[in-house]
Amino acid sequence: MSMKPNAKTVLEVKDLQTYFKTDAGIVKAVDGVSFSVREGETIGIVGESGSGKSVTNLSLMRLIPSPPGKIVGGEVLFEGKDILKLTEKQMRSIRGNKISMIFQDPMTSLNPFLKISTQMVETIRLHEKDVSKQEALKRSIEMLKLVGIPSAEKRIHSYPHQFSGGMRQRVMIAQALSCNAEVLIADEPTTALDVTIQAQILELIAKLSDKMGTAVILITHDLGVVAGMCDQVCVMYAGKIVEKAETDELYARPSHPYTEGLIKSVPRMDTTKKGNRLFSIEGQPPNVIDLPPCCPFHPRCHKAMDVCRQAYPPVKDLGKGHEVACWLFADENEKQQALKEANVKEKAE
Ligand code: SF4
Repeated sequence: MSMKPNAKTVLEVKDLQTYFKTDAGIVKAVDGVSFSVREGETIGIVGESGSGKSVTNLSLMRLIPSPPGKIVGGEVLFEGKDILKLTEKQMRSIRGNKISMIFQDPMTSLNPFLKISTQMVETIRLHEKDVSKQEALKRSIEMLKLVGIPSAEKRIHSYPHQFSGGMRQRVMIAQALSCNAEVLIADEPTTALDVTIQAQILELIAKLSDKMGTAVILITHDLGVVAGMCDQVCVMYAGKIVEKAETDELYARPSHPYTEGLIKSVPRMDTTKKGNRLFSIEGQPPNVIDLPPCCPFHPRCHKAMDVCRQAYPPVKDLGKGHEVACWLFADENEKQQALKEANVKEKAE
């Protein structure tokens, strides 16, 4: 894990908004999310389920089921183009090729009825028409070797079920990277695996990102996973990024009470004694249908103030690219002004 200050920005997400229309109201699953990721860099998007982290990434791949979902605003800049404006045909040449995704369950992207060789060769030739079958097979074997599949020349002719869970995950990573993807989106890639295999797979993704310059977006509910792997972290809550910082800075100075809770709930070798109960954030994630314009974390926050229940906090820059959306960092005038505006609004209604 190291910051790459001079590396070029590969993907830039600006004010992304993805909403779902339901009978009960509008779900603002992603509401104004912005971040960017550079060549060879790994960014972690962390949050509980329902925080909007997976919808963010499905939006980047333009895989939101529509209806009921729709990307209603924002930009996703890749190679200087807003991919939200591309036709579906243009998008198909990017998806699975320049921007690839790996999932928790490898069987989501591997066909159980086809040999790995067939699947990998087809994937490469689908995106690169001038590559011969032999060349594609050679590249696929190289990729399998790179991800640590022993006897790759032989194993490539196996079916997915002939691999263990961890090995299948490696095959999926090899397939995702076989077209020289510039961005790899990994959505909870190791949750289903045991701890030792988890560590190996995460290490592998980090190594490949470093070696091939691939930008990685890692989606996880586990801040512990992020610590060893990501250069920067975005913490999401109720469809918004509530805190964003370089990983070391976030751990040294967690500023949003939700982030503090997440960090405290990560088990630690040095301080978590056997038999001690781990910290957990009280309360449930909010119902995101027709959320009122206030801090959605306030019912669970032990530092909540009046203003938190009346208005959404402004984003504050704490330096070194560390941003937080929490009223604790606003000045008194801003709080008074927000309370005044909320009062006027309430009277008008
Ligand atoms: Fe807690 Fe208020 Fe900050 Fe929300 S804005 S996290 S309620 S202190």
